[in-house]
Amino acid sequence: MTRYIFITGGVVSSLGKGLGSAALGALLQARGYKVRLCKLDPYLNVDPGTMSPFQHGEVYVTDDGAETDLDLGHYERFTGVPARKNDNITTGQVYTEVLAKERRGDYLGATIQVIPHITNEIKDFIMEKEGTADFVLCEIGGTVGDIESLPFLEAIRQFGNEVGHDRALFIHVTLLPYIPAAGELKTKPTQHSVKELMSYGIRPQILLCRADRPIDDDERRKIALFCNIDEEKVIPALDVSSIYEVPLSYHAEGLDHQVMDVFGIKDIANLDLSIWERIVRRIKEPEGEVKIAIVGKYTNLADSYKSLNEALIHGGIANKVKVKLKFIEAETLEEEGTDSLNGVHGILVPGGFGKRGTEGKIAAVKYARERKIPYFGICLGMQMAIIEAARNLCGIDDATSSELEERGSHVVGLMTEWETDAGKEQRSEDGDLGGTMRLGAYPASLTKGSKLAEIYGSNDISERHRHRYEVNINYKQQLEEQGLIFSGLSPDGELPEIVERDDHPWFIGVQYHPELKSKPFEPHPLFVSFIEAAVAQSRLV
Ligand code: GLN
Repeated sequence: MTRYIFITGGVVSSLGKGLGSAALGALLQARGYKVRLCKLDPYLNVDPGTMSPFQHGEVYVTDDGAETDLDLGHYERFTGVPARKNDNITTGQVYTEVLAKERRGDYLGATIQVIPHITNEIKDFIMEKEGTADFVLCEIGGTVGDIESLPFLEAIRQFGNEVGHDRALFIHVTLLPYIPAAGELKTKPTQHSVKELMSYGIRPQILLCRADRPIDDDERRKIALFCNIDEEKVIPALDVSSIYEVPLSYHAEGLDHQVMDVFGIKDIANLDLSIWERIVRRIKEPEGEVKIAIVGKYTNLADSYKSLNEALIHGGIANKVKVKLKFIEAETLEEEGTDSLNGVHGILVPGGFGKRGTEGKIAAVKYARERKIPYFGICLGMQMAIIEAARNLCGIDDATSSELEERGSHVVGLMTEWETDAGKEQRSEDGDLGGTMRLGAYPASLTKGSKLAEIYGSNDISERHRHRYEVNINYKQQLEEQGLIFSGLSPDGELPEIVERDDHPWFIGVQYHPELKSKPFEPHPLFVSFIEAAVAQSRLV
């Protein structure tokens, strides 16, 4: 029997609903249950793929090639369950689907309305998970009270009635703001938010109350009374120093116990959370520190590089060091030179799109290559390493990417066709931008004996991609003569996937996004190795 847990948010956005859902998923797993997490997003974009990272943070890519909300990254990092395309749906997708059915004549003359057609489509999305897990955790994006989320709230209300209240639980995440003048946490916004939710016919059984300091018993009692909730089901969700502490902190506050209680499941005596305890210990008691520079262009919004930041922390956990991130806006390297890179133990150029900042990224590659500082280029960061070597070592002065310049020697160019399991995919210059990149998991074959094969401990790998341009394989020999070795290719030998230098302590560029698959309990080997190299570098300086 599958049980459903719906997680809504109130008062303000950015309360960490996604993290909360992921942490609850991890706690249910620790109780031996199979979990699945999904997210309903109220915005109108079909997927977040066309949104700027400044707008919506990172786009998380699944193995099956969907561009999804970054919360799916949290789900995967906390539970290890690979996210799938049908774990995320947006209003845009729901309408696209319903309108396509209307055009096909599937509704047989009916007037198409939000209720029941849109809500049915949403319910189908949730119901499709039936039987795939013991618990399906379904997060509703946005904040209760937003116009956009109404159809989703209506759909989950109906869904709860249909599956029965012994199989559906509603958790509401709220904020208790601290007012310094009054010297207390305020419960009124929570009361109003619950009232609003109740006006849609949803009665939350558990409240997760975010606060920056302990919530005293009086406040808890007050919330319970006004919100019609058992006192022990008003769970404090206090700020913690590391996100990996959240499962432990929620467990200590009784969240998973209360979930069991709502469903009438007998509780087990002891929960083994040693994995999380070990991770938190490693984070809190590092034996050293390394400084990594991230040279990008979305550097003033931490969420833009969410998975990357986490994967670097995971690399630190494996090496027992704290990883200090220094975000450097690529454009400043163009204007002010590379002084800001002095003293860092590793340089990483992450994925990105468009021309802005690329000359700064190329300067960062040159700095890392010449001074033998560990360099990790991811996607655009690999393409920058290619352009740098082509210009500065092969003497191709006008080397560039066709994404950046129409003219010049395109050592990186538009990928016009590639092999998939289903046959050849083709693209042209003037095609749609949405959902048309080379997306999702693709295999790569590594050269035996290469540094990469050694790091992975295998010659065959599968990693997630999200790119439209590729390194031009025709330059392979010229670049290899200058020490930039193509040590990983697509199995058909057509697409360069990895480059490494043979005259450098750690210089690797990958066309894919290894950060998407790293987990705190299973750090990605490339990040483990990169941080290891940074530790070695830190001992030199
Ligand atoms: N803009 C580059 C491309 O499309 C790199 C993409 C990325 O870094 N994800 O190929």
